[in-house]
Amino acid sequence: MMNYKAPRGTHDILGINALGMSFLELKAKEIFKKRGFEEVRTPIFEDAALFMRSIGNTTDIVEKEMYVFEDRKGRKLALRPEGTASLVRSFIENRMDILMPASKFFYTGEMFRYERPQAGRYRQFHQIGAEFFGNSSPAADAEIIILAQDLLSSIGINGVNIHINSLGCQKCRPLFRETLVKYFSSVQNLCTDCVRRLEKNPLRLLDCKIDSCKFTNAPQMLNYLCVSCKDNFNTVQTLLKSANCNYAVDGTLVRGLDYYTRIVFEIRSKDVGSQDALAAGGRYDNLVKELGGQDTPAVGFALGSQRVLLAAEKQGLFNSFKISEKIFVAIADQELFNEAFSFAVKIARNGLKDNKDISVFGPKNTESLTNQLKFADKIKASKVVVFTKNEFENGKLLVKNMRDRTQAECFIYEV
Ligand code: AMP
Repeated sequence: MMNYKAPRGTHDILGINALGMSFLELKAKEIFKKRGFEEVRTPIFEDAALFMRSIGNTTDIVEKEMYVFEDRKGRKLALRPEGTASLVRSFIENRMDILMPASKFFYTGEMFRYERPQAGRYRQFHQIGAEFFGNSSPAADAEIIILAQDLLSSIGINGVNIHINSLGCQKCRPLFRETLVKYFSSVQNLCTDCVRRLEKNPLRLLDCKIDSCKFTNAPQMLNYLCVSCKDNFNTVQTLLKSANCNYAVDGTLVRGLDYYTRIVFEIRSKDVGSQDALAAGGRYDNLVKELGGQDTPAVGFALGSQRVLLAAEKQGLFNSFKISEKIFVAIADQELFNEAFSFAVKIARNGLKDNKDISVFGPKNTESLTNQLKFADKIKASKVVVFTKNEFENGKLLVKNMRDRTQAECFIYEV
């Protein structure tokens, strides 16, 4: 018995799930390319202070969920809990805020949060995300929401609900904040986190995992938006409608990160249980400047790949992930091993005449033909190509169809 297990909240991604993950990424990359988003790969760990400053010191992520460690020189580092802070750091460090202020980037990769694991919530999970810098127009917000939705539909996910809200700007949020503090002060028995955050960050209370159910009558930001934020929110909606994107305005939506301004959104699915947000994002117009860059508006989103795959499985989409046809190359006579081997290499390189998308197995040189065929069944090969002495002398081989158990002789050059 082996004594080791994957750490709590982490998983090996195997078989159809690994295939699904690659398929999702492939589709996402095709879509990003068509819309002018370029890939950025940032380090998996960063200066811990980057996340504290950007995500916010009073958020769950920073307070309880970051994997923070010191390296041998005593630097305080953190495994990235999300992608936006790293992308913004990279955007500024590579001087793109000056050289290429209007630019679009995407990333894919692992994120780490010390959360209580459950279905759809892990300590290591995979995100696909995009950031659109330098465009404050509502068209950029609409583009990001539609992009997230299109990524989901590209692998066949349907029946999702898009929730949108506006968190206002520096002009209108203070009054809302004040009203919220008054409201929360009248609610009995707040949890210790809520009590602590009430003064520093009252918006955080709205998505407290313990208390949020008590806040059904809480004031909503939508009623406090200034004229410009209201206009902005209305225009985003007009644009979404014009692109046939169905959404619902949800005044209760707040996000677990501090940097958002104006539009925030979540795309939820009923098919994945309580952790129902497949993708989420919003606008963060102050973050680039706050982290030391030029004043650059920005909007982005991130999608959780494991959650999307949970939804895909529930919606019966796993069968549509492209699985290559498995071909096993067998030998009836040991002396044909070299010929069979070079044939296997050739079809692995070029595919079969009628199907280029194949996976090739074999030949095995020490087993009886019966055992080779058993192995072919085990790996679910659809065809077995058998090298036998009689056929090979005539430039032929046997092709066994493992589904209907028929077989046919054919010339090697025909396969
Ligand atoms: P966030 O970075 O919190 O805005 O989350 C964006 C998306 O990442 C969510 O909608 C989820 O799909 C996914 N996600 C966030 N946290 C986790 C987690 N702990 N495990 C799996 N997926 C997650």
